[in-house]
Formats: sequence, structure tokens, C-alpha cells
Amino acid sequence: MQEYSGPDEDLVALLKRDILDTSPGVTWGEIAGLHEAKRVLEEATVLPLIMPDFFRGIRRPVRGVLMFGPPGTGKTLLAKAVATEAHTSFFHVSSATLASKYRGESERMVRCLFDMARAYAPSIIFIDEIDALCTTRGATGEHEASRRVKSELLMQIDGCFGHDVEPGQHVMVLAATNFPWDIDEALRRRLEKRIYIPLPELEARKELMRINFKEVEVAADVEWEELARQMESYSGDDITNVCRDAAFNGMRRRTAGKTLEQIRNMRAAAVQTPVLMDDLVQALARISPSVSKADIAKHEAWKSEFGSV
Ligand code: ADP
Repeated sequence: MQEYSGPDEDLVALLKRDILDTSPGVTWGEIAGLHEAKRVLEEATVLPLIMPDFFRGIRRPVRGVLMFGPPGTGKTLLAKAVATEAHTSFFHVSSATLASKYRGESERMVRCLFDMARAYAPSIIFIDEIDALCTTRGATGEHEASRRVKSELLMQIDGCFGHDVEPGQHVMVLAATNFPWDIDEALRRRLEKRIYIPLPELEARKELMRINFKEVEVAADVEWEELARQMESYSGDDITNVCRDAAFNGMRRRTAGKTLEQIRNMRAAAVQTPVLMDDLVQALARISPSVSKADIAKHEAWKSEFGSV
């Protein structure tokens, strides 16, 4: 990967430290379910880089892709997996950071980000919480600043596929939001593919438990099907929290009533016990689903109006 040092050296250093992720390291295999989303993302983002000559003219790659859905459903994981599978440079920026950390410099920062992404091309710029760029909250001055950042972003997205961009050397924008209805029309139009990332289905819930317990011993009495059924409205993140809590329960049982000194003298192996069905049932009782039915209904309504799949 070549080094980039643009005119804004201080900003470049900042971006390299905070935003360029050289090894996101997530693969498709670590993401449960979401087969349709993976297929669409592959077609929209990975294939144009593998066979650039095919993606010309009417088949030109899309300028931007939006992933929307409730929180904790794997949008960030998918973005990282796309970068891994496509072997691209990965710039991970959160709109909230853009708006706060770089306040006053956000426009310059957006320009610098795209310059840098072009220098490292092919690149993916992942903008998390993109809705935060469209808010009209706050003082008038703030609103004006955020409007300027947004128009800079629109201009940069438009410039990503100019005639001077070599096929296979482009910069693609991947965005994620939990509030798609807050995104205005101009930005929505640039994010040509809009993919719904829903709560995990039954099979995906089972797969997610398997992924989470990959390196942990699990007792034979665990009823995966039953647990997956009980977690009907849980997000991927909620399920991971249940698994993590259950994985700690064995240790809690082993160390209950012991002093810290006694625990220090126990070997790690003595604290470990397989995860039991009961550990999972207890964890499930402690952790409730975080996404409301009303939120899901809102996403589905937006999907029917603006979604691509
Ligand atoms: P989002 O960006 O949609 O808010 P993330 O991708 O950050 O959600 O997911 C948060 C965490 O939830 C992940 O680190 C992972 O542990 C878990 N998770 C959520 N969905 C999945 C999934 N489909 N497969 C594997 N892990 C998942």
C-alpha cells in the first residue's frame, strides 16, 4: 500500500490514525444469516473490483450503498467483510465523529478523506450513522455547517466515478443507518442500492450461537432450536450478549462464596465449566430484546418505499 501525504498533513495523520483500518479482518463466514444482503453486497461492491471490465457503461458500479435496519444486526460487520473480501483499503468514519470531533473542519476532512481514499484506491469509505449528517437539530450555525458538509459529501460521491477514474480503481461509499427516514432525498439518490438488514431469522439465530461458542465448550444438553425460538425478537447483538453472559455463568458458579485469594489460587482450568442449558436460560431471563416492534414496522414501511431488496 502506498503512502499518502496530501497538502493537509496534520489531517492526513489524524485520518490514518482514526479512520484507516488496514485489516478489518471479518469474513462472510463470521456473519450469521443475511444471505440476500451478502449476495447484493457482493454484486454491488466486490465483483466490480474483481472484474472491472464488465462493470462499464450501463453496468457501471453503483456510487453508494446504504444498509439500513435496527441497531446490532450486523451492518458494521458486513462493511468490514466487504473490505476483506474485496481486498480494498477501508476507511471507517462515523458521522457523529465527523460532526463533533472535527467540528469546524468537517468539510476539509471530507475532502481529505476522499483524496486519501483515491490515493489508496480501490477503497471503501464506510460512513456509519449517516443520518447524523442530515439532522436539523441544534443552533442555526450548526445547521448551516452540517449543510455544507453534506453538500461536500454529495460532490465527492459524484466525483467517485468520473471519466478519469480507472476501472477497478474506484472509491465506493458504503453507509449504514438505524434511521433511514432521516436521510434526505439528495443523499438517498446517491446511495443507489438500499439494503435492509433485518433481525436474524430462526436459522441465523442458531448459527449465531454456534459462531459465538466456537471456542467454548458447550454441554450436550443445550437445546439450540428451543433457545433460538425463544429469541425471536432479539438482534444479533442481543444474542451475542446472551451468549457472553451464559459463558460467564459457569465461572460464577465455581467461584461463588470464595475469597479473591482463594480464586487467585484456582487455576484457569478449574474455573472453566461447559456452558449448560441452564446458563443460557438464566442469561435469556436477564437480557431482553433491545428493538421494539414499532421500530421494525417503521423499517419495513421504509423498505417497501425505498429499499432495493
Ligand atoms: P450494527 O452495525 O448493525 O449496529 P454490528 O455489525 O456492529 O451492528 O453488530 C454488533 C455486534 O452484534 C457484532 O459485533 C456481533 O457480535 C453481533 N452481531 C450482530 N449481527 C450479527 C450477525 N449477523 N452475525 C454475527 N454477529 C452479529
